Amino acid sequence: MDMPEPVAASTDEAPVLYEVRDGVALITLNRPRYGNAQNPHMLYELDAAFIRAVEDDEVGAIVLAGSGKHFSSGHDLGTPGGHDWVREVDKKTPWYEPRRRAGAEGQYAAEQEVYLGLCRRWRDLPKPTIAAVQGACIAGGLMLAWVCDIIVASEDAYFSDPVLAMGVPGVEYFAHAFEMPSRIAREFLMLGEKMTAARAYEVGMVNRVVGPEALVEEALRIGQRLAQRPRFALALTKQAFNFVDDLQGKRNAMEGVFAMHHLAHTHNRIVHGSPVAVQSPQDIKKTNGG
Ligand code: ZN
Repeated sequence: MDMPEPVAASTDEAPVLYEVRDGVALITLNRPRYGNAQNPHMLYELDAAFIRAVEDDEVGAIVLAGSGKHFSSGHDLGTPGGHDWVREVDKKTPWYEPRRRAGAEGQYAAEQEVYLGLCRRWRDLPKPTIAAVQGACIAGGLMLAWVCDIIVASEDAYFSDPVLAMGVPGVEYFAHAFEMPSRIAREFLMLGEKMTAARAYEVGMVNRVVGPEALVEEALRIGQRLAQRPRFALALTKQAFNFVDDLQGKRNAMEGVFAMHHLAHTHNRIVHGSPVAVQSPQDIKKTNGG
């Protein structure tokens, strides 16, 4: 997650696919070779697909799916084309262009824009969104599922946020404490273990669990039913839930934790020379004062 110089266009042909089926936009993350790891190019393509669906009067609901075995393995930490960071023309928040800024500034501005900013934008889309999650849904993958209104999981899906092992207190979009009960969320983040689809259903993080072959069909079926409902009332209902979440502190919590997240990145840079650092037992002993 360093801030290298811009590179040539991404090697991906089409990192996000878009089609409309019976009033539902089916948006598919399409980097299956990399477990749909998210680079900025993919995220801006995803943003464009979401806005296209919002503007299309034929579309009443949006399904977000991932091609291949995994929904999303998280933020891209090193595949080809993974590091073409924010370009001025693409920016969706007021944060300035982050490249070539020293200290903590560049990464702070970049993550405000590409991770926190884009996710908040998608959470506020005026049309209902349904995530169809299979296989891995790890760290940055959670953010994409969590911004959706409804989550359908395949039986083989699993969820995890293992970034504490890299010295960071959770992914940038800190919704953990809102997505599951606080004590479960603490366990989820502190231990960093995988949560199965069945367990995610049990704690209320996903709406339905279906067989892998039925996943996208089930999400589309929900979308088609939503698309039959009054558009403005749906938009207002969605807004109402987001409003209540924010009254309960979701937005402010995320704002505060984002600052802690960047304290952690900066600490890691000073101590380990990298914003995220997988620490050896010796490192851990040393930084714990042992
Ligand atoms: Zn970060």
